[in-house]
Amino acid sequence: MSVTATVRVMSPEEIAAQAGGETPYLLWPERSTLFAEREMRLRQLAAHHPMREFLLFAAEIARAQQALLSNFPDVPLPDEAQLDRAARDAAPPLPAVDWPRDGAWQAGLHRLLAQLETGGPDAAREVVARLRGADADWLDAQADCLLTGVTHGLDLATAPLIAAALQVYWTHMLLAVQSASIGRGQPFGRIEDETLCPCCGSRPVASITRNAGGLLGQRYLQCSLCSLQWHMVRIKCTHCLSTQSVAYQSLQRADASEAEGAASALAQAETCDGCGHYLKIFHTDRDAQVDCAADDLATLTLDLLVSESGSRRHGVNLMLLFGDPGPEDPPDPGSA
Ligand SMILES: [Zn+2]
Ligand SMILES: [Zn+2]
Repeated sequence: MSVTATVRVMSPEEIAAQAGGETPYLLWPERSTLFAEREMRLRQLAAHHPMREFLLFAAEIARAQQALLSNFPDVPLPDEAQLDRAARDAAPPLPAVDWPRDGAWQAGLHRLLAQLETGGPDAAREVVARLRGADADWLDAQADCLLTGVTHGLDLATAPLIAAALQVYWTHMLLAVQSASIGRGQPFGRIEDETLCPCCGSRPVASITRNAGGLLGQRYLQCSLCSLQWHMVRIKCTHCLSTQSVAYQSLQRADASEAEGAASALAQAETCDGCGHYLKIFHTDRDAQVDCAADDLATLTLDLLVSESGSRRHGVNLMLLFGDPGPEDPPDPGSA
């Protein structure tokens, strides 16, 4: 008697389901380590990197962000009625585009600037000094541009620092809402548009496959603003959700400088022929220290490679924004 068996490759989700585990939809940033780990990763990536100065300055910003997040004042949060309404509408409870920002975000920005005043390259010190003298209305208008993705009228030189303060403010609110509702039901869940952050509705910076804690290579998208991670199956376009024409590009060592090579080998661009967008994907089984925001900055060469074929970036990195394509030269990240 012969036995035939068909072998089918299971997705990580199927493997997890069979093992009795469920893939958690959300993974939370850690208040005490989020930006400290990002700082460490940026310093690691900066060694011998062609964008060394820029990555080190980003590391300084991350260090200041950690100090701010570890000791953030209480701010108004959505009440139960607002959380219920968001859940009913499958909308993000802390929407970046129209959440009424508390003045604490600007106080946070000034604390951040005070920490950065002495470090960094000359150009960065000049930007810090300029921001310290900026008035509150101008800062709020810049924040509106950043949070709605409008680059017209955005001052690209000061944007990363303003964004850094907004990131801390939003991460604080995310974690504060979460801890206030322990035992009262989950305040964050799936929203209507799964390409956007379930907390604040922002676009992801990149995606990451996770292997620790019972996860078997499941892919998560990381929010560019609040750092919440949400699950999305692999081999699926994170922009149009098509599974039909997804492909992967990565850098050959010849494309990257030798120093960049180590970081770049970890990064892939998940491209979609259907809609022409791509998002980077990093793999923790290849390097456990990967940080979406840091590794994205250090693999700009991959963006250049992928954009040559006409693909557009779906990911947003608030530390490195590009203006509207126009007559002006793109910003030189090395001199930020
Ligand atoms: Zn978010
Ligand atoms: Zn697509």
